[in-house]
Amino acid sequence: MCKPDAVERGLVGEIIRRIEITGLKFSRIEMRVVDEATAKAHYAEHEGKSFFGELIEFITRSPVVVCEVTGPENTWEIVRKIMGSTNPASAAPGTIRGDLANSISANLVHGSDSAESAARELANFFPSR
Ligand code: GDP
Repeated sequence: MCKPDAVERGLVGEIIRRIEITGLKFSRIEMRVVDEATAKAHYAEHEGKSFFGELIEFITRSPVVVCEVTGPENTWEIVRKIMGSTNPASAAPGTIRGDLANSISANLVHGSDSAESAARELANFFPSR
């Protein structure tokens, strides 16, 4: 997902380019405002944490670009590598967050952290598929 800060900063093309040039395919792309229920389901594992409210407010504040990326079984792992660490302060140069972000709350992208998470998250964002 390209988060609201990525759309607001005009970085969607750059983010997609960095993933697409590896040979992974974008099989579905959709721009939309995420509603609160979908956001809460997406970030359920963080419920109760101090930053949960801020996280939901942030992800629902303006349009995101939800993407399904298709490739080998470990596609999620390749995408996470291109994204870089959650905190841009420790994200390596050459990664999306390392090169383009400076805040842990506005870190431009979300990527599933396992094949199982990818299936669950895609079902949350594209329930009619
Ligand atoms: P990700 O999988 O790399 O996106 O990281 P997580 O699933 O652990 O966290 C989800 C999102 O919550 C991150 O991308 C951050 O934007 C945000 N986040 C995580 N930890 C913190 C924190 O300690 N403070 C704040 N403000 N946001 C956080």
